[in-house]
Amino acid sequence: MQRYDVVIVGAGPAGLSAALVLGRSRKRVLLCDAGPPRNAKAAHMQGFVTRDGTPPPEFRRIGREQLQPYPNVEVRDTRVSSVDVLRPGFHVRLEDDAHVDARRVLLAVGVIDEVPELPGFRDLWGTSIVQCPYCHGWEVRDRPLGVLASEPAHLDLALFLTGWSRDLIVFAGTPLALTAEQRERLVRAGLKVEERPMRALHGTNGRLESVELADGARVAREVLFARPTQRLPEFVRRLGLELNEQGFVKVTEPFKETSVPGLHAAGDVTTMLQSAIVAASAGASAAYAMNHGLNQENVERVIAGEPWPT
Ligand SMILES: Cc1cc2nc3c(=O)[nH]c(=O)nc-3n(C[C@H](O)[C@H](O)[C@H](O)COP(=O)(O)OP(=O)(O)OC[C@H]3O[C@@H](n4cnc5c(N)ncnc54)[C@H](O)[C@@H]3O)c2cc1C
Repeated sequence: MQRYDVVIVGAGPAGLSAALVLGRSRKRVLLCDAGPPRNAKAAHMQGFVTRDGTPPPEFRRIGREQLQPYPNVEVRDTRVSSVDVLRPGFHVRLEDDAHVDARRVLLAVGVIDEVPELPGFRDLWGTSIVQCPYCHGWEVRDRPLGVLASEPAHLDLALFLTGWSRDLIVFAGTPLALTAEQRERLVRAGLKVEERPMRALHGTNGRLESVELADGARVAREVLFARPTQRLPEFVRRLGLELNEQGFVKVTEPFKETSVPGLHAAGDVTTMLQSAIVAASAGASAAYAMNHGLNQENVERVIAGEPWPT
């Protein structure tokens, strides 16, 4: 049985960042990634200082390349299928039926977007159906935008988007029925409101051209902002961890420990504040905490008469 100081599940910005910190801290690390990344369809990753506009696969390539000087970090393209909590430590099962032990585990698995079953949606997701104005707002400034509003929070997103474009239509058919007050706020802010349900999205080569409504009418739009429901990966749900109010894995601040001691989580899986740089920062914070705990454990064992771990 192979034994690691830390198994990191997920090699996106959070996992890569944690692996770098732990590698430089001389910890024995296994970094597992099942791919593809959540932002696989996005051509560019915006808003990451020194990396603005970098294609996501290039970001990951550089992240892995910068782990190469640290032979104590092993990277495997494999899925983690379960994590058993042993107290102390963890037993981690991989999809190829291999299993390893770890003193700490970091969940850096991101989230899964439940893309709606609306014709055309999946093809346009990540190119001209997007979710985050910080990631994509600049590129679509002053363009004809739409917002798919299926819950009240999406109306706030629509109002917020006026910071990037004032040519905005809120599509608020089913399941959200607008109240008169909600409608009035949108209209007073200069937004148009469309309450006929959306039936399909049309575009070519990943570029949205129009939104089709239930009665067949088509409304020209270049970009649609939408917030698909997100869910946690199945093996994370099986862990039964405490969740926060938004349904993400609850962690302590600033060191990102979950409700299970020694099991940390960082990045999108913990927060609705989802961006690559925030995830990378969280991964580093979690790594500092894990490394600190491991060093403390090592020192206490030696003081108690045991040899230094190899
Ligand atoms: C379409 C789109 C465009 C975006 N554009 C931007 C942008 O321009 N700028 C920006 O800052 N942010 C952007 N984001 C958000 C950004 O991608 C995320 O906030 C960021 O990637 C989160 O990093 P993470 O490390 O938490 O998770 P992720 O990047 O999602 O990485 C998690 C990794 O874990 C792996 N994994 C999952 N389960 C397992 C398992 N069981 N075993 C092994 N591996 C597993 C996944 O395959 C994945 O590789 C975008 C998101 C989307 C959806």
